[in-house]
Amino acid sequence: MMFVLRRWIQTAATALSNAYLLFPFTRNIYQGKLKSVCVPGLNCYSCPAATGACPLGSLQTMLATVRPSAKAGNAHIGLYVLGILGIIGSLVGRMPCAWLCPFGLLQELIHKIPSRKIEIPYWMIYIKYAFLAFFVVLLPLLVVDGFGYGTTWFCKYVCPAGTLEAGIPMLILQPQLRELVGWLYASKVGILLIFLTLMVFIRRPFCRIVCPLGAIYSLFNKVSVFRMVHHPDKCVLCKECYNHCPMGVRFYEGANQPDCIRCLKCMQESCKFGAISYEIAGLPVALKKKTTSPL
Ligand code: SF4
Ligand code: SF4
Repeated sequence: MMFVLRRWIQTAATALSNAYLLFPFTRNIYQGKLKSVCVPGLNCYSCPAATGACPLGSLQTMLATVRPSAKAGNAHIGLYVLGILGIIGSLVGRMPCAWLCPFGLLQELIHKIPSRKIEIPYWMIYIKYAFLAFFVVLLPLLVVDGFGYGTTWFCKYVCPAGTLEAGIPMLILQPQLRELVGWLYASKVGILLIFLTLMVFIRRPFCRIVCPLGAIYSLFNKVSVFRMVHHPDKCVLCKECYNHCPMGVRFYEGANQPDCIRCLKCMQESCKFGAISYEIAGLPVALKKKTTSPL
């Protein structure tokens, strides 16, 4: 039941984030007022159907233009992006990754393709913090031109969601852009193909290894208003939560780990012993009725 609800919400969020259906006629991206609003998940600003802005792109743009903006007295625009991320993270931590992110949904669907599944070494989940630090914060902030403008390094050189949602569709919609295709475009298509392949074999590889947006939200997991709870007294270490977790989290080693996206699958579908629940502001909300004795 929870799984079906989550799929519906993921699908609705993807549709709402990409609700500009006039793009086949305008052959351009939507640039109306909604575009100044950040969506909670990874959804490229330059996708022809996108109705909102990607928070990761907005954050990089803010940092890349912070010097000229400060000179012009517009630094408050950047505070809006930080505020949105801070409010979402403080309330629910990494939950948008499970319920609202279109690229997360794509990874889960592709992973359903029957194949031998592979687990990544645990240390690889820390690579995304390096992407956050270098491609989203330091490079846009520090590498600037003579006028003080930097660039959106992660969007420009890495983001496979941007290539899928914007790079390829825009090339189809605007044939004149094809003359500009070069090594950068080819390398981004290569990155996209690598991740599309990895998604078949590995659970949410982009979220776990690379996504800087997930890295930001994950910083709030232990302190957010919504938190998962583990009950060690009921846990029999059957590892069913790990086996079915879309992020490969070993919940039995502790609740609210950085990669827990609060999908609730472990609580609702995996754990037969009532060892998993959640709380809001410290108040237990859904302590699952114990169905099997741990003894
Ligand atoms: S599924 Fe439940 S009982 Fe089994 S390891 Fe996870 S938390 Fe413990
Ligand atoms: S630990 Fe549970 S709630 Fe967290 S991502 Fe895995 S299945 Fe979802």
